[in-house]
Amino acid sequence: MPHNFLARLTGSFSQGAADNPTVAMVEAAYRHHGLDVRYINCEVHPDKLGDAVRGARAMGWLGFNCSMPHKVKVIDHLDGLGQSAAVMGAVNCAVMRDGKLIGENTDGKGFLQSLRQVVDPEGKSIVMFGAGGAARAIAVELAFAGAKKILIVNRDDKRGRDLADLLNSKTKITASNTSLSGSNAAGSGGVRVPDGTDIVVNATSIGLYPDVDAQVPLSFDSLKPNMVIADVIVNPPRTNLIRDAQARGCKVIDGLGMVVNQGVIGIKYWTGVDVDAGVMRKTVEALFAA
Ligand code: NDP
Repeated sequence: MPHNFLARLTGSFSQGAADNPTVAMVEAAYRHHGLDVRYINCEVHPDKLGDAVRGARAMGWLGFNCSMPHKVKVIDHLDGLGQSAAVMGAVNCAVMRDGKLIGENTDGKGFLQSLRQVVDPEGKSIVMFGAGGAARAIAVELAFAGAKKILIVNRDDKRGRDLADLLNSKTKITASNTSLSGSNAAGSGGVRVPDGTDIVVNATSIGLYPDVDAQVPLSFDSLKPNMVIADVIVNPPRTNLIRDAQARGCKVIDGLGMVVNQGVIGIKYWTGVDVDAGVMRKTVEALFAA
């Protein structure tokens, strides 16, 4: 029987690549499923992004992830965009399809896959803290999944308003925004979640290591046990928000689910294989425990 020594290639282009644990998680899945695919974590300077993408094309890569600071600029080097990446104007996963490199965004899709294990967002009312890259991706996917309305709460009012405008103009969700410094906010004991809210999302960096004692400025007595509370923070996964929401009887979703499901979706795009999310979750949990 002839050998095949030619592995298929995937990877990631970013700056600060040495801190990105995705390679460990993805390669654990490749090994578990016996896939002869590699994931190469590459440090790429912004001036060299075009060369990196041309190199990936020349070497026949199946695709690659893109992290900071390339998520917007990479679009200039691709052949097309998926629906939500086009609305967001940001790509974190490029996929070779029929000889064309197509930009997708798995940030929000990973979140949604994680959320759907607990609740279907269709017809639901959302309160989301944050209006940065992660928030944008999550809000667009929630809108495409049929969520009814979303209140965006952000520190920088303009950024929050821009996201609400984007959602109202490009999707069917009804979006509004409020500033963290507004009347319904921190000074008065935190933002009160309106009655009838189904899902609350923290898509800010609040609670991220090393500032692990920070708390989302939320009035916890406005949370009801039937609400689902989701946090995007990966390190540590058990944030103050998760802990306090659980204490109030809410269902909770941590940031690991989002990161793991992004990996699952990326691998499916590149190889067509549905990999075991549990293997990947175990790998990242071990990394953060260490
Ligand atoms: P951005 O820098 O694009 O946005 C940061 C957001 O957090 C903004 O809305 C910002 O508000 C807000 N923010 C930051 N610090 C504070 C604070 N002290 N008080 C109030 N608001 C604050 O970052 P990203 O959107 O890319 O990432 C946000 C978080 O999501 C990060 O912690 C990141 O690690 C995590 N993440 C997790 C993923 C996962 O798979 N689990 C995937 C992607 C991101 P303002 O606009 O006012 O500055």
